[in-house]
Amino acid sequence: MNIKLVDTITQYHEIKENIDSAILNLLEKGQYIGGEAVKNFENQLAEYLKVKHVISCANGTDALQVALMVMGVEPGDEILTPSFTYIATVEVIALLRLKPVFVEVYPDTFNIDTEDLKRKITPRTKGIIPVHLYGQPADMEEILKIAKENNLFVVEDTAQAIGSEITFSNGAVHKAGTLGEIGCTSFYPSKNLGAYGDGGAIFTQDDTLAEKIRMICNHGQKKRYYHDSIGINSRLDAIQAAVLSAKLPHLDRYNTSRNQAADLYNECLKDTEGLILPACADNVQHVYHQYTLKITEGRAKRDAVKAYLDARNIPNMIYYPVASHLQQAYQEYGYHEGDLPVTEQLTAEVLSLPMHSELPEDQIRFICEHLKNALRETSL
Ligand SMILES: *Cc1c(COP(=O)(O)O)cnc(C)c1O
Repeated sequence: MNIKLVDTITQYHEIKENIDSAILNLLEKGQYIGGEAVKNFENQLAEYLKVKHVISCANGTDALQVALMVMGVEPGDEILTPSFTYIATVEVIALLRLKPVFVEVYPDTFNIDTEDLKRKITPRTKGIIPVHLYGQPADMEEILKIAKENNLFVVEDTAQAIGSEITFSNGAVHKAGTLGEIGCTSFYPSKNLGAYGDGGAIFTQDDTLAEKIRMICNHGQKKRYYHDSIGINSRLDAIQAAVLSAKLPHLDRYNTSRNQAADLYNECLKDTEGLILPACADNVQHVYHQYTLKITEGRAKRDAVKAYLDARNIPNMIYYPVASHLQQAYQEYGYHEGDLPVTEQLTAEVLSLPMHSELPEDQIRFICEHLKNALRETSL
């Protein structure tokens, strides 16, 4: 069985005519940077997210960096973020000479622990970057409350969760990424809304921030060759914008199909000894960027199960084997093993199974059977 961890090709074939004509059209027009295609996609995405401004950029990492650059931070300012995330979230904080302050996550949802978040606020704290990990929104209602009480900004890392929703206690439903001062996402090909190359976007409801973001992404200029601030060069290719415009109308269907795959995994794996299935908070709509479970007997067992699946060509991945606070590159911040016990335990227990919008039922059943065998047949 040819199982793929992520399948971008089947999705392409399904809407090939739309994609091909969108790209060919663009080639004939000759405008390869900026222009109509980019503007149209930004407007389309703004409408989908119900957010006032969408500013596209080159990738999700740039989106996060630019977001921090417009928030008026100074070197040494502290930014609260989970250690259990993709490194990009932490990298941009460090690159801007800000100080990442690592916060624990909940062991069931893998998202930022709001009690630990409160404990880690100091007079130098300026902002919070919650990450909606694996496609599940963090507890934004509580995070926004803490941010407001402590005068902190919130930049949401929505790279893994585009299209996911949160229902607040007043009944209002919001898309993840539209609640903080700024939301950031990535269109890396394997993300839920993937381009055929790199891409990213920044969202905000605030006119002034939107103007600054556009400026920073364009070398700090509003008027050509007049540079008011130090910026960067970060833009979405017109071809990628055309691809994304063709794919966006299908995003909800893709996310539904990921949910169906997750449901079937849950069904096939329920009550399996040695496994904890992914938990979903009841006030969120998860979009299952990853289907990530925990293998509970520790790192050696998890690694043995992984090796068993690898040997049978069943794709799987560990997101992430080393927590950010223990990475070599971030030693200067002074963290040690034991500082974030939940996070550290997760890095020893998590395993992600194949997940994409085209995953056939028989493959899911096949993967589950082998995973159960792996749990039985591997010993420590
Ligand atoms: C993918 C990802 C990013 C970075 O996006 P790129 O487009 O690869 O730069 C940032 N944060 C998280 C959580 C991600 O998963």
